Amino acid sequence: MSKTLQITELPVAGYERVVRGVDSSCGLHAIIAVHDTTLGPALGGLRMWPYASEDEALFDVKRLSRGMTFKSAVAQTGLGGGKAVMIGDPKKIKSEALYLAMGRFVDALGGKYITAEDVNTSVADLEIIRRATKHVTGLEKKDGGSGNPSPYTAIGVFLGIKAALQWTFGSDSCKGKTVAIQGTGAVGSALAKKLVEAGAKVYGADKNTERLKQLEKEIGLVPTSENDIMTMKCDVFAPCALGAILHDESIPKLNTPIVAGAANNLLLEPRHGKVLADRNVLYAPDYVINAGGIINVSVEFNPGGYDEKVSLKKIERIPQALTELWTISKQERIPPSDAADRLAERIVADARGAKKTASLGVQGKRTGGG
Ligand code: NAD
Repeated sequence: MSKTLQITELPVAGYERVVRGVDSSCGLHAIIAVHDTTLGPALGGLRMWPYASEDEALFDVKRLSRGMTFKSAVAQTGLGGGKAVMIGDPKKIKSEALYLAMGRFVDALGGKYITAEDVNTSVADLEIIRRATKHVTGLEKKDGGSGNPSPYTAIGVFLGIKAALQWTFGSDSCKGKTVAIQGTGAVGSALAKKLVEAGAKVYGADKNTERLKQLEKEIGLVPTSENDIMTMKCDVFAPCALGAILHDESIPKLNTPIVAGAANNLLLEPRHGKVLADRNVLYAPDYVINAGGIINVSVEFNPGGYDEKVSLKKIERIPQALTELWTISKQERIPPSDAADRLAERIVADARGAKKTASLGVQGKRTGGG
């Protein structure tokens, strides 16, 4: 390992391991959080962000890595939850040396954490990281990876929207339904295409107006202002841009019976799940409906390697998972977001219990105890 990479443990209650990696020779200041590996190695993307302080970065990486444990648990990927953040402005600090140092940092965890693409990191960045560690996923298909996860996330969200239509209107048909998409980036634009093909009328808002114009030309998407997209009357509001947009001020302004989109951490606080339910808005818990990408990546770990057919079969289970959560939510009078959290917690706790029992069994055999 490089002599210039300094790794420090940050003891954080409730997390298996949180470590800081600093390499002043290239400006690396990163944190890896391994939340839970009960279900498998902790997989989660590597985010680069100009955090104002290390505390801010720590808060984010903790929140995100815990979210990955929940997402993988419900999606049954056989993986645990982790995340990594690099502190810095992507326009200023990106360099080959930086990513090589990050690769050495990931490698130092011996496979407990597996990295992937996230905000401000690309497949090209991961290719550099791979030179320093094998614990990288989401590489190009031509390199044996599962490729860009976004199209698979979009498939899952599309199927999830159909399940929400079925639940709300008694038919999963998109024909004649209006869908407002906030953010027509990698996932949002792929989703828009699928919805239009299925007969929906799609409205879209994005800071990138060029992309909107292109989608207007290509598929007849109706460009809408950033202000109107969240309050317009529609059958489905599909947030595919930012998190934390559902809160006390925004929820009363929604004019839709369904919120179902790709963006992570949509609820500003967990209690906002109840605020939505109290207004009769059906919510598709974010980490359940947007699991298509992680499901696709997880298929890289199959003994025979990546196989798209296996991935699509697993993604097709998303509507069923959502319908089960909405059923629990109705029966137990809890918001779907709480139903999802409880399910994830139970899956991890059961697996932890089973592991404990198995290890006690092994110890018992070793000591001859009965
Ligand atoms: P992206 O960066 O390609 O697209 C996001 C788009 O949102 C951009 O075009 C951006 O201009 C736009 N945007 C930003 N602020 C906006 C605003 N206020 N109003 C309207 N548009 C705005 O990202 P993506 O990969 O498409 O992911 C979208 C969301 O889904 C993110 O929250 C991401 O974390 C989440 N997600 C993505 C994946 C995946 O596979 N890519 C998987 C799970 C979750």
